[in-house]
Amino acid sequence: MSKLPKNFTKYLSPKANRRHISPLRKLYAYTRNDPKLISLGGGFPNSDLFPFGKFSAHVVQPGTSFQMNKVALSEISIDRSKKEVSGIESLQDFLQYGGGAGAASLIKFFYQHMKDIHNPKYQDWGVISSVGSTDALNKVTELFLNDGDPILIDEWSYPTAIETFTSSGFQMVAVKMDSEGMTPSSLDEVCTNWNGSRPLRVVYMIPTGHNPAGCTMSLTRRHEIYKVCQKHDIIIIEDDPYYFLQFNDAPVVNPEQETEEYLKHLPGTEKLVPSILSIDTDGRVLRLDTFSKILAPNMRLGWITGQKDLLQKIENHVGTTTMHPCGFAQGIASVLLNDSWGPQGFIKHVLYLQEEYLSRRNIVMSAVNEHLGNMVSVTTPVGGMFLWLKVNLPPHNANKPGVMAEIFEEMIKNKVMLVPGWQFAPALDTSAVKDAPYFRAAFSYASKEQLTMAIERLSAVLERFGCKK
Ligand code: PMP
Ligand code: PLP
Repeated sequence: MSKLPKNFTKYLSPKANRRHISPLRKLYAYTRNDPKLISLGGGFPNSDLFPFGKFSAHVVQPGTSFQMNKVALSEISIDRSKKEVSGIESLQDFLQYGGGAGAASLIKFFYQHMKDIHNPKYQDWGVISSVGSTDALNKVTELFLNDGDPILIDEWSYPTAIETFTSSGFQMVAVKMDSEGMTPSSLDEVCTNWNGSRPLRVVYMIPTGHNPAGCTMSLTRRHEIYKVCQKHDIIIIEDDPYYFLQFNDAPVVNPEQETEEYLKHLPGTEKLVPSILSIDTDGRVLRLDTFSKILAPNMRLGWITGQKDLLQKIENHVGTTTMHPCGFAQGIASVLLNDSWGPQGFIKHVLYLQEEYLSRRNIVMSAVNEHLGNMVSVTTPVGGMFLWLKVNLPPHNANKPGVMAEIFEEMIKNKVMLVPGWQFAPALDTSAVKDAPYFRAAFSYASKEQLTMAIERLSAVLERFGCKK
């Protein structure tokens, strides 16, 4: 029998403590419980006056995409009647004010998905929709942190997270990384030696296909990190948009070697490295999931999983900010995932993406091996869509102030762009890392042909700075 989560209410920020369920929302329960009640209560506009009668979309079959020559499409839609079989709400319901958690049919999908894939190990966990992980990150940090509070973060991290923390006034406390990401020894050391005036409460991490470092934590690493967080009673924000894009032990091969036999290296769903949420017995993980990398980013739809008491506080926050994600996005996602593709179709589709990103990883790594060689040091990514290149500059350039900016200028002249490492530094003043010899390359967006071309161009640039293959 799983246990109840640990109570973290002592950690809640004054702002989170001031948030409560709107008294108006409490009135909804009366209408829900008694269909005969005539409500003059809610300040809802009249749904029959909404100008939309049907909302539909053409979607591919799961496991296919528009990059294929022939792609069969099916039409999915939501209209003015509820879909009785699947319980999917009507279009008016999706477009009307609803609870801040999200439409019931979508929440049901998220809950079952989390149970199937992550199976949280404590009682009273739940899910709440978000307007993507960027929105979610704002909301989960605001639960615990005030202006001036510290937050633990990788020594290189996702720029929008850094911006979020900077603008919120959080003091970023960097933790060392290795080829798997945040190291438990550095996390423990930082927490043990902390003598800041405010306590360390929260760590932010990207365990799979790290942005920008491309690394993925092994299960052992996840357990070790979790133990350190238990030791210092730290809440974990698990920002994991690339979770399904794992490649397991698939070696780098040429496209013609990507046979059915080879693709068996892929983890599918069974051999995915388990999430930190899935090993969490205390309810100290708030996990952020998003459709951004597995359906489309501007659907602006994601979900947060964690203990229900904390999610309730987030729901109260949602009530005064986003209200809930856009009804069109929720509706079309609900029909797609509950009805058209169904949960199995969704998994089939994310596994197709797993293959696609593996193929791209292979192309870019083959090009790096062939055209860059010793010019760079790189850990072959086993997940995600990023490559983190350390440039091996010769001594006369390695310590030259401004050399990374010069390389960047030269890249632009040579029609290739990678992001300089300093942009991922969690610091207000990045001048100390302006010449850190790193670049991030995303292998997700450019065409497969362009990926090789980009690495060839990069090789020509690095040669001009004295790098040797
Ligand atoms: N302001 C006022 C005065 C309102 O009456 C309402 C809707 N009840 C809102 C804001 C909420 O607007 P929205 O749905 O665009 O967040
Ligand atoms: N978190 C990480 C680590 C990311 O790399 C990204 C996208 O680049 C996001 C969050 C953004 O997610 P969303 O589009 O759901 O806000």
